[in-house]
Amino acid sequence: RAKLSAPNRCWFFNQKIHDELLHQHRLAERLQLALADNELALHYQPQVSAMSGRIENLEALLRWFPKEGGAISPAEFIPVAERSQLIHRIGEWVIREACRQQAEWKRRGLGGARVDINLSGKQLAMANTFKHLEACMAEFDLTPQDIGIELTENVLIEAEEHILNTLRGLYHRGMKIAIDDFGTGYSSLSYLKLFPVTSLKIDRSFVRDAPKDPSDRAIMAAAVFIGHRLGLEVIAEGVENEEQLELVREMKCDLVQGYYFFKPMSAADTTRLLTGLVGGQPRIVS
Ligand code: C2E
Ligand code: MG
Ligand code: MG
Ligand code: MG
Repeated sequence: RAKLSAPNRCWFFNQKIHDELLHQHRLAERLQLALADNELALHYQPQVSAMSGRIENLEALLRWFPKEGGAISPAEFIPVAERSQLIHRIGEWVIREACRQQAEWKRRGLGGARVDINLSGKQLAMANTFKHLEACMAEFDLTPQDIGIELTENVLIEAEEHILNTLRGLYHRGMKIAIDDFGTGYSSLSYLKLFPVTSLKIDRSFVRDAPKDPSDRAIMAAAVFIGHRLGLEVIAEGVENEEQLELVREMKCDLVQGYYFFKPMSAADTTRLLTGLVGGQPRIVS
């Protein structure tokens, strides 16, 4: 195989960057139409009590099913939406849809679990996001206990003072504010005392490797310790097997989320699940 000369290599990289930009541009164009064409949906993944298996929360996770088939992952299109301003309209749709769905579940006597919404950095930076959240909660007659939000560490660190004040207001009214992907940001722990948060979600990467890797176990144990000492609820993300669940229980995590219990599912499937639980949730734990 012939060696690439330097200019060729340079061309190769430019071509890759060009292809990637073009791909993102096309994705942004299609995403713009996705909202109007009803291609977006919220799926829900339960978070269960580590000890009793009871469903406490439902995380709302955005899905995009293009009409031409297939599904595009939020890990792919949320960053595109963030770069193209589309995140505002999409984020507002997510907030309203989550509130509407929670109100419907409550009306049908299925509203025992809180619905958690993910907010991106750009969304948090916009004062309008919270006005919209408040308006939707009022429209659907929801309380701060019915809805929670998830933010990453880096997003919190970069938040301006007036946004933090808004978060403080929500916190004092009893809204759940979780730090998502805890342990993967670049922050010092001192921010935990500055920010109005109620919950830590230990990132999936630690949970995944904890059974085999003592370092991951140590980081998890430290996260649970500091979380509890600060009076926070601790949630383990991405629990996929019995071994991980055992560890998470030993460490006294409060809540568990992951494929071992439930994958994210459509609103209709979630309704069926909640309906089956009325009159007493099954105890998954022996
Ligand atoms: P996240 O908020 O950390 O969500 C958890 C992700 O882990 C979800 O991926 C979920 O499906 C996946 N997951 C849950 N349990 C397991 C497990 O046991 N094993 C494995 N391998 N994965 C598991 P998803 O739905 O693809 O979402 C990816 C990310 O996209 C989310 O990470 C969140 O940052 C973002 N996202 C999703 N929906 C929204 C939204 O409505 N708004 C915003 N701003 N971001 C969103
Ligand atoms: Mg999340
Ligand atoms: Mg997460
Ligand atoms: Mg994540």
